[in-house]
Amino acid sequence: MIVIMQQGASEEQINHAVERIEQLGLTPHVSRGQFRSIIGAIGEKLPAHQQILEALDGVERVVPIMKPFKLASREFHAENSVVTVGAVAIGGPEVAVIAGPCAVENAQMLDRIGRAVARRGAVMLRGGAFKPRTSPYDFQGLGEEGLKMLRETGDRLGLPVVSEVLAASDVQLVGRYVDMFQIGTRNMQNFQLLKEVGEYGKPVLLKRGFAATVREYLMSAEYILSRGNRDVVLCERGIKTFENEVRFTLDVSAVPVIKEYSHLPIIVDPSHAAGRRQWVAALALSGIAAGADGIIVEVHDRPEEALCDGPQALTPEAFEELVEHVRKVAAALGRGLAARNPA
Ligand code: PEP
Ligand code: MN
Repeated sequence: MIVIMQQGASEEQINHAVERIEQLGLTPHVSRGQFRSIIGAIGEKLPAHQQILEALDGVERVVPIMKPFKLASREFHAENSVVTVGAVAIGGPEVAVIAGPCAVENAQMLDRIGRAVARRGAVMLRGGAFKPRTSPYDFQGLGEEGLKMLRETGDRLGLPVVSEVLAASDVQLVGRYVDMFQIGTRNMQNFQLLKEVGEYGKPVLLKRGFAATVREYLMSAEYILSRGNRDVVLCERGIKTFENEVRFTLDVSAVPVIKEYSHLPIIVDPSHAAGRRQWVAALALSGIAAGADGIIVEVHDRPEEALCDGPQALTPEAFEELVEHVRKVAAALGRGLAARNPA
């Protein structure tokens, strides 16, 4: 349930409500809004709890949260959450473009591609060092060496970096190098991993499981939030359907649905959905038009040599054109493009 404090409730009243919530065996999560504070009281609640809390000074009313996800819900936090990664804000008025290769292959290629995307409007660099490959015989990523390259390149170019963490046991290692963890589609319900990144204290890009419903997805976000990490960015990256012309079907409808149900930022990944570069731009633009807060796109300057996901990689030139189109679609919605912080 949520405890809605009166407008102008004092710090003392908020603290007292927090104490009482704890005494009732519930976990308080305070959300300070522009006008009033709301306290989520999460846990096993008894019918009497509502009355007890409603009687406290400074409390306006106490309402149950109907959705199974609580901290992720708009009922708990009415305004859009903005997640800050380095100098980049995701979920605010500006649309963020994240780009880079699928995998870090070596320092030279990462530097080339990093420069190419930074020059063309990317505000964050992506690159996998631990790759979740369908075949154990495919390139598995460079591991820690790859993370070092990503960190160095990001620092050189002034771009925060995001990279996938595959296992709970790797969270400490990956956390030393990245600005934002990526949880991949195949791990959306790896609850131990979600708990670990929830406790680490760095932002998390949580991709939607390719066979997960929106509700299951938001429950996974709830795992991270409930561990005290508020910096969760969602990412629609395509789901499995009967259609197999595309690699996955980008569920554009998830964007407005999630925007209604949740305050968390959501971006789209058109690359893994399309699977082919010629369809990437259309999907990216549809996501922005639907209200997404950004895109994460795979770019490679020699796609035919890519060790992973070459067929869906945009060339730097195609990426440049896409960014221009994203700018126009965003502008039609009264939004700008997030700009890079000069290094
Ligand atoms: C990726 O971003 O390279 C990736 C593997 O994504 P997903 O988990 O969405 O397949
Ligand atoms: Mn990929």
